[in-house]
Amino acid sequence: MSPTPAIPTLVRGPRTLLRQIRETIAAAGQTQAKLGAVVRTIAASMVAEVCSIYLRRASGEMELFATEGLDPSAVHVTRLKTGEGLIGEIMRQGRPLNLMDAASHPAFSYRPETGEDPFHAFLGVPLLRGGRAIGVLVVQNRAARIYADDDVEDLQIIAMVLAEMVAAGDLLDRDELKDIEIAPHRSERLKGAKFSDGLAFGIAVLHEAPVAASRLLSDDVAAEEARLAQALESLRTQIDGMIEGHEGLVGPSFDVLETYRMLAHSRSWSRSLQDAVHSGLTAEAAVERVRSEHRASLGQARDAYLRERLHDLEDLNDRLLRHLAGEGSSARSLPNDAVLIARNLGPADLLEYDRSKLRGLLLEEGSSASHAAIVARAMDIPCVGRLEGLRDRVNEGDAVFVDGESGEAYLRPRPDVVKAFTTRMAVRAQRRAAFARLRDTPAITRDGSPVAMLMNAGLAVDLDILPETGAQGIGLFRTEFQFMVSDALPKFQAQRELYDLVLARAGPLGATFRTLDLGGDKVLPYMHAEREDNPALGWRAVRMGLDRPALLRLQLRALIAAADGRPLRVMFPLVTSVDEFRLARSLVDREIAWAVRRGRAPPARLDVGAMIEAPALVWHLDALLPLTDFVSVGTNDLTQYLFAADRGNPRVADRYDTLSPPFLRVMRDIHDACVASGTPVSVCGEMAGRPLEAFTLIALGFDRLSMPPTGIGPVKQMILSVDREAARRGLAPMLASAASSVRGEVETLARKISVDL
Ligand code: PEP
Ligand code: MG
Repeated sequence: MSPTPAIPTLVRGPRTLLRQIRETIAAAGQTQAKLGAVVRTIAASMVAEVCSIYLRRASGEMELFATEGLDPSAVHVTRLKTGEGLIGEIMRQGRPLNLMDAASHPAFSYRPETGEDPFHAFLGVPLLRGGRAIGVLVVQNRAARIYADDDVEDLQIIAMVLAEMVAAGDLLDRDELKDIEIAPHRSERLKGAKFSDGLAFGIAVLHEAPVAASRLLSDDVAAEEARLAQALESLRTQIDGMIEGHEGLVGPSFDVLETYRMLAHSRSWSRSLQDAVHSGLTAEAAVERVRSEHRASLGQARDAYLRERLHDLEDLNDRLLRHLAGEGSSARSLPNDAVLIARNLGPADLLEYDRSKLRGLLLEEGSSASHAAIVARAMDIPCVGRLEGLRDRVNEGDAVFVDGESGEAYLRPRPDVVKAFTTRMAVRAQRRAAFARLRDTPAITRDGSPVAMLMNAGLAVDLDILPETGAQGIGLFRTEFQFMVSDALPKFQAQRELYDLVLARAGPLGATFRTLDLGGDKVLPYMHAEREDNPALGWRAVRMGLDRPALLRLQLRALIAAADGRPLRVMFPLVTSVDEFRLARSLVDREIAWAVRRGRAPPARLDVGAMIEAPALVWHLDALLPLTDFVSVGTNDLTQYLFAADRGNPRVADRYDTLSPPFLRVMRDIHDACVASGTPVSVCGEMAGRPLEAFTLIALGFDRLSMPPTGIGPVKQMILSVDREAARRGLAPMLASAASSVRGEVETLARKISVDL
């Protein structure tokens, strides 16, 4: 029995239709004829009176490329501007539009030349490729009706295959293809956030590689079903393993992990995948197919929670593809001068790539405190993150620039940009060479004040860089990094080994270990953490350590064991009250007593300090300082809390200036209180590594600076040129200024007294 023409339905299913399309293409001669034959085949199979294909020109216009049922003279004549009409709507949303009466939709744009007046029912689906719409496939019928869900599903599968065929050049000739935006090919500049300083130029390598077009269709459904089932099985086993702590999942916290597991086991996900395989797709294509659908539906969600779920699904899809490819690890071999492109990366991911070939890293998401950013900085790899739409805008093999200085990415840059960038890279290399020559020169101001130059570190890889920088020691060792890049809680022995290594290689001024600064946004995947409304103001750092001392005590024990009779310097993060410091210090004493009871050597000398990061402490230094052996000002957090501006939020992070009277007065007060009580003080926030800011700190009297490795050369060069007394005199009146920032004045002063910035 044949269905009535007015009620279209897919009579033979997409698998048969896909085969027919392939046969049609093989039989049709010229390329334009192929496209015509394809729409005819689809129309007949779907019992549609109209079937049309619109493709996007490089100009952004949508052009009618083939039609069955509309006026043939409209082909290559009907063009819609970006976003115009129902076609524009489908492109914008990246999802199907199923309408009973096309003309009554508010976005409808009437084109008389097409002769589409009699057709009411309208179903349009995007031609999606790698999540990006390159065109639209439409079927129309006279009778006003809504197409069945199965029809929508089937048409989407056909559209996906057509998109790949168009991209592969199977349907259009080469000249025609050139002007179609299959993949982005124009130069683009994307603005993101600075994650790791530096400049890099290289070839884009996609961390999550798309499925090759040649592997989309399969005639052997049973074989693909079996592959899919097996891959799903191993994926689920892997995820279950993570939950049980056998294998660490990077990033999400525990409750997110639970959701993740639920998604991995979700019936509807596996059913959608199976359906796609049934329709004639390979297992890989099925994953892409279902992924596109999720992107289209969840990508539009306003709700942050739903959008997060989309990320989980993306992650699952990537993992599933890797299982299908039989790969255990995500890392692939790199070409020379590679710039890695990813949505986000887990810490281990980056370490798995060959450092000698990796020039830069671009991330669609992440934050400056994310694992990938931390590891990128430790490995001295320029990195820009939060590049919206990155993965849609870049193709594997594109030339890309990473501008870690300004937080921008240049995709397929024009020759003039390449030239400018190459010059900048050369200048930077020259400066680096000049700094390298200063490596063994002591940092002493022109008027004879020595400044201790220390480095911030947190991973074993940092220790490799230390000798190159000429740093005299490690002023801040962020012990939580080891925890953040591990798959499971580092055991006593692993902690002790790392601390031992740090002590052995820290240089003449030794290392200052900062105890675990966890909590807040530094959530460990393997530790249960409760969601907090204000994580930066929440249960973090020493607060957590004092409430649940087991972890902190284990760490202190590992530090004492690693020191093994050598001197030991320990400091506590985010101390907010004097009592907190007193309690934390007593834990150190207890652990030393414990070690001594077991006949172990106590540290030859013990220095216990507090980080000054919470403003409250600034007005209680008279009580705090007598209890400490030293203090270190964490200006990153002190700025955040003083200005009430989240350091990780790009909207406000740079809104207030450290070179401002309020901040400089706070720093002056801290310095003066430390001098009065004879307490050694250092500055270990990022500002210590910026020449102008470091100049200001020197002028305020600070003489111990700990900074990221890249800051040491430039800051030392500045110090060698400073007359400290002149700087002090010049800065003093600025502290009384009514301006919100005195950056300009400080810069003028520095130039006036010939400081090399
Ligand atoms: C700081 O807050 O300035 C600091 C050095 O610590 P962290 O950046 O690790 O919070
Ligand atoms: Mg801090």
